[in-house]
Amino acid sequence: MNLKKIKFCPVCGAKLISTQTKATDLSRPTCSHCQFVFYQNPTPTVIGIIKKNSQLLLIKRNHSPYRNFWSLPGGFVELTQNLELALQAELQEELQATIKSTTYFGSYVSQYKLQGIVEAIVATAFEVKLTNYDFKLNNEIIAADFFALDKLPKLAPFLDVQAIIKQLKKPL
Ligand SMILES: [Zn+2]
Repeated sequence: MNLKKIKFCPVCGAKLISTQTKATDLSRPTCSHCQFVFYQNPTPTVIGIIKKNSQLLLIKRNHSPYRNFWSLPGGFVELTQNLELALQAELQEELQATIKSTTYFGSYVSQYKLQGIVEAIVATAFEVKLTNYDFKLNNEIIAADFFALDKLPKLAPFLDVQAIIKQLKKPL
């Protein structure tokens, strides 16, 4: 996996060398001078599963990557946020929607590619009930609409979104 290209030690500035660890079999960049180990962890994101009359809310992206593709609403967790707060902030920002309740749905290993850098992601999805469904869209999204699960438009090929859709389509 082509993860973040970190080349130099953030402590002493010497070159980092890739070192295989026995415990996890992962390759960890380790400093050639001070032995600092650069642990690479996934970046947390949140995804909202919002339904109305058993139809699923999708948003059409207005930015890279996958501009003009449909996806599930959500985004990155900012430094001071927990997952629920991050999801509320995203839904407020994108749709001016307020969360009434969240139920944990699942978590997914994914990737986010931007400008040649591949970010490792762990996405947490929640089923969300809102207090309002009269959305006002910001400029990050072109459209927001509810779709029947068997009539979905062209979705962005994010691993997490694809896995969630597959899980939603599975008969109970
Ligand atoms: Zn160092």
